[in-house]
Amino acid sequence: MTDQNPVFIPGPTNIPDRLLNAMHMQTRDHRAPDFVDTFAPVLRDCKRVFGTESGEVIIFPASGTGGWEASITNTLSPGDKVLIGRYGMFSHRWIDMCQRHGLDVQIVECAWGSGAPADKFAEVLLADSNQEIKAVLATHNETATGVKSDIKAVRDALDSAHHPAMLFVDCVSSLASMPFEMDRWGVDIAVSGSQKGFMLSTGMAILGVSQKALAAMEAAQLPRTFFDFRDMMAANASGGFPYTPPLQLIYGLRESLDMLFEEGLDNVYARHYRLAEGVRQAVRAWGLKLCATSPELYSDTVSAIYVPEGFDSNELTAHAFNKYGISFGIGLGEMNGKAFRIGHLGSLTDVMALSGLAAAEMAMADLNYPIELGSGVRAAQNYYRSTATKIAIDHQGGVS
Ligand SMILES: *Cc1c(COP(=O)(O)O)cnc(C)c1O
Repeated sequence: MTDQNPVFIPGPTNIPDRLLNAMHMQTRDHRAPDFVDTFAPVLRDCKRVFGTESGEVIIFPASGTGGWEASITNTLSPGDKVLIGRYGMFSHRWIDMCQRHGLDVQIVECAWGSGAPADKFAEVLLADSNQEIKAVLATHNETATGVKSDIKAVRDALDSAHHPAMLFVDCVSSLASMPFEMDRWGVDIAVSGSQKGFMLSTGMAILGVSQKALAAMEAAQLPRTFFDFRDMMAANASGGFPYTPPLQLIYGLRESLDMLFEEGLDNVYARHYRLAEGVRQAVRAWGLKLCATSPELYSDTVSAIYVPEGFDSNELTAHAFNKYGISFGIGLGEMNGKAFRIGHLGSLTDVMALSGLAAAEMAMADLNYPIELGSGVRAAQNYYRSTATKIAIDHQGGVS
């Protein structure tokens, strides 16, 4: 195995040298004034990435899963009704978490490969005349299937039913890679993490929280201590933390925000679209199919690709790792054995994406897949050549 090969898993993502360097630091006193000077602007600048001016940003030492837990325990009470669609492994896990917290979970079962069922949500919300549903939960980017959902459509479903339920969105694998508009879409809690679009190591759950969600906090009866928004916000108000903060990660996040803003968020989104489109052209040239059932659902951060009938995607991912030292995402849940995933988010260039496509082709050819060696790479090359603009590379791996 060599660290020279990028990973093509959809998180954790490749960490640019600039961020590794930013996190490589000695212990500092988190109660000293210079921590306060660093942390408050980090929280403020994260708001820009979430697309919120009116909301707050709250960071816990956790992975994204901890962010899910914080979202429900701070706003809901046992027995509260929530509405959620199941269309992949991540929405499935959030459902499981809600059930284990004693919530009354109304599930809309959807085909894996489809997105948040806004039309069905609209029907259910309209029929909920006593307004018992307290929150609607949606996964913006279903990492298991490579499906991006239309969150604005879910907001419209709530509005058209004049329903006051809160809207919680998992944007762990979309934030800082694909457009996200917390205020415009009326999202009450947006859950993300450090190890995907932010290009850092795992260890921070990063949440955007609306004033409406904060107002629900006092009445919420689900138990929480470590993840209590109230303790965190009270400490943050004076620039501090209620317990020991993950200092190196917070300094890394400072640098990550600087990188994102230097490139420009719109350019970050355009780069992800372009990288993803090259991968999709390759998949088409191979004659393979994406799990996402229609183009408006295509994710720009991960492509889940069905292997042909009679092949085992786990064999493919294991072979690619064992022979070429390269990691692709395995098929999760219902997709296990049937699909593999190419993660194309975070710190990635055309050249890196092409290396992943070339390696995938070698592994498929070794296993006698009915693909033509070079066909996907050629399709992606043509797309990247025709859409490339001249870029200036700074020597830290950023693009300006
Ligand atoms: C990665 C991811 C998570 C969080 O997983 P953790 O392993 O807890 O960080 C949640 N939702 C989605 C859609 C993800 O891609």
